[in-house]
Amino acid sequence: MFERTDDLIQPFRVDSLGVVGRVVRLGDTVDTVLRQHDYPAPVSHMLGETLALTASVAGALKFDGVLTVQTKSDGPLRLMVADYATGGWMRGYAAFDAERLAETRPGDSLTRLLGMGYLAVTVDQGSDTERYQGIVELVGTTLAECALGYFRRSEQLHTVVKLAAGLAPGGRWRAGALMLQREAKAGGTGPVRDEDDDEPWRRALSLTGSATTAELLDERLTPDRLLYRLYHEDGVRAFQPLPLAFGCCCSRERAEAVLIALPAEEIGGLGIAGEIQVTCQFCNRTEVFTEDEVWAARAEEHPRAVSRS
Ligand SMILES: [Zn+2]
Repeated sequence: MFERTDDLIQPFRVDSLGVVGRVVRLGDTVDTVLRQHDYPAPVSHMLGETLALTASVAGALKFDGVLTVQTKSDGPLRLMVADYATGGWMRGYAAFDAERLAETRPGDSLTRLLGMGYLAVTVDQGSDTERYQGIVELVGTTLAECALGYFRRSEQLHTVVKLAAGLAPGGRWRAGALMLQREAKAGGTGPVRDEDDDEPWRRALSLTGSATTAELLDERLTPDRLLYRLYHEDGVRAFQPLPLAFGCCCSRERAEAVLIALPAEEIGGLGIAGEIQVTCQFCNRTEVFTEDEVWAARAEEHPRAVSRS
């Protein structure tokens, strides 16, 4: 139906069940992010799911800026950060303890990989606007279960998400998500809550629950065919997809700005053989400056304050 079938957020609606949702498909986008870092498989798997979750949450909100999903915890996989920037640009990175991680496997529970900690969703729309942040404890055995806690906390009461990430044939990473939300009743002021009206929601949950990991990841199963397979008896409608791609906003200018902002005494300690390297933690791109370049840039920025020690 639509030309684009991969690296996208595909919104849909099932009128008779009173639900809206999104299919997220990540091909090149997630493969690019994960290959930049070459993480061990359990880390790639979990960060892939985090990127799919990030796109699902971003697709449900109206904002102009950057939405970040971050986990911080005491397990082997101690940090994950995934960004979605308006326009569909995605990037991410993780931090882990290699020794402890060696005892885990892809598909291990959230509890085993991440341990105790929190998941935070932040929306940053620029310096002159208020930042939105929602934080929940990591509860549940999967990232999708943990996300339910976030949806409840942010008053998206009737929301579920399924997440998947894995290596496709050919050794490329893929990730996917299927998110479903119950619509507010026409004329109502919030999510439908009366129990009498639960049958369509229960049916929607059961149909959504029947989607398999393989279906969420299969590149040959286009999003509209997946939607048809799941909801065709109830009249599903798909809308124009939003494209996704890897994108990082790091640049030589930003790297230089970081060096200019550092205290003078730290600059000397950074140089190796007269060179200073600044590596972007998101995309691993490295900018190399000579120490002379850094001192010249600092002198230009604060003419009197700079002293070379
Ligand atoms: Zn970067």
